[in-house]
Amino acid sequence: MVSVNRAAHRSAMESTINFDSILQFPDPQSDDDMYFMSSFGTPVTQVPTPPTEFSEDFSDTPDEDVVAKHFWISTTFSARANWHTLPPDLVFATSDMVLFYVHAHIILSSSDNHFHSLIPLPSIEQSSDSVIHVPENSQTFNIIIHLIYNLPSSQFSPSFETLSLAVLRLSFYGISPKAYVTVRTPLHALILTFAPIFPMEVYTLAAKHDLLDLAIPTSPHLLAFDLSTLTEQMAVEMGPVYLRKLFFLHIRRCDALKKFLLRLPRAHPPTEECNFENQRGLGRVWALASAHLAWLVRPGFLESCLNPLTDTLACDECKDGLRICIKNLLVGWSQVKNTI
Ligand SMILES: [Zn+2]
Repeated sequence: MVSVNRAAHRSAMESTINFDSILQFPDPQSDDDMYFMSSFGTPVTQVPTPPTEFSEDFSDTPDEDVVAKHFWISTTFSARANWHTLPPDLVFATSDMVLFYVHAHIILSSSDNHFHSLIPLPSIEQSSDSVIHVPENSQTFNIIIHLIYNLPSSQFSPSFETLSLAVLRLSFYGISPKAYVTVRTPLHALILTFAPIFPMEVYTLAAKHDLLDLAIPTSPHLLAFDLSTLTEQMAVEMGPVYLRKLFFLHIRRCDALKKFLLRLPRAHPPTEECNFENQRGLGRVWALASAHLAWLVRPGFLESCLNPLTDTLACDECKDGLRICIKNLLVGWSQVKNTI
């Protein structure tokens, strides 16, 4: 029954969105519950009818034949998923026609607004099979549902934009990002993997939702960020509190370095080759180098900048004094707090 048109449609859809990793298409003929639980990346064996054929007289009841014709189904949250002790009793349909079969009590317990008042109250007579339409696409909604169930979603390789949008949409459904994106959650860990690549974006996302536990481990990746390039929009997005934290991180470290640089190399007792007058040269070299360094604070930069100074000295005792001074500076600098 799979027509050429369906295959062509599948090909067209896959060229834009990698559905295979998120969902499968159900086989109404199959009695095998495990069909719905096959591993990620399993090739889709059937394909949906093009969305343009979406029936307007669709009765909001996920009859299997109708589902088979019009919808895709979430891989994890299928009707026959048996990883939870109770069968699902609620069905969400996303804007791109993907169904998520879930448990009302779990969804409701995560939300303080009845999931944007989308979930019917128990007192209202309504079919438990009702399909609830949500405005998100399946990729975003997939992240939200996995978050509610505290399941990892890294296997779908979502983009940072998708993760960011999912977190942004949580408040719409009455879910507190602060309560759900915490240190021990899979989503927290997943977002943090983007910190080395998009440090400012991750920091801003954390700032927007006051996720301090996410902002702190992201902040060392912002040490090399040039604050003069911070735009007004970035400042508005992260808000005054996290903007202040970021500035003080930089200011604090800059101040600490300046203090270290003020500690001159220790003088040694005058020798035949190097009297007090000669040793003043060392002080001048240090002062000159440190004046430049204070403006060029970058990781790994200090050592490469300071060590060559020893080559400019003729006296071995002066060289030893300078090496000790550099070593103390680097040790002290490494201990300066590098997070907000
Ligand atoms: Zn000397």
